[in-house]
Amino acid sequence: MTTLRLFEYRCSPHGHRFEAPVLARTYGDLLVRSARPKSERVFRMDDPLGDELASMLAEVIQSEGLRLSEREQGQLFRVTLSVALDPDSDGSSSQVGKPPSCPICGSLDIEDWASIEPPIVSETELPLASHRDWDELEARSKWGRIRGVLAHVTGDGEK
Ligand SMILES: [Zn+2]
Repeated sequence: MTTLRLFEYRCSPHGHRFEAPVLARTYGDLLVRSARPKSERVFRMDDPLGDELASMLAEVIQSEGLRLSEREQGQLFRVTLSVALDPDSDGSSSQVGKPPSCPICGSLDIEDWASIEPPIVSETELPLASHRDWDELEARSKWGRIRGVLAHVTGDGEK
C-alpha cells in the first residue's frame, strides 16, 4: 500500500485548479507519472532495478572521473530510472517526480502547488512502474542508454 497526500495544483495556461497526490511517506519509493493526467504509478525501492541502476551509475561516474554532489547523483539516478521505465499505455514517457498534467486542459505546465490543509491522506494500491523493455535489453544496450543519459545530463550542467 502507498500513502498518498493530496496537493492542489494550478495549471499555467488557464489557471485551472485541480488536486493530485504526492507520496506522503515514501520509504524511498518514488512517484512516476507520464504526460497523461492521473497516470500515477510507484517505483518501489526494493525493486532490483534500483540497485542495478545505482551500481551502473557508480561505475560510470568513477570511470569518467565525474565529481557529482549527492544532489546531482540523486538527480542523475531519477533521470536514468525514468529512461529505464516502460512508457505509459498512451506511449508517453515515464518520468520520476514529474508534476501532474492538468486534467482539464492537459497542459504539462504547472505554475503553483500547495498542500491541502488539513491534510487529506489516503492509502492506495498504486500500479507499479514496469520496466519490461529494459529487462530484455542486452548489457551493451543498457550501457548505451546510461551513457546517453549521462551525456545529456552533464551537457546540461555546463550551461
Ligand atoms: Zn488547465
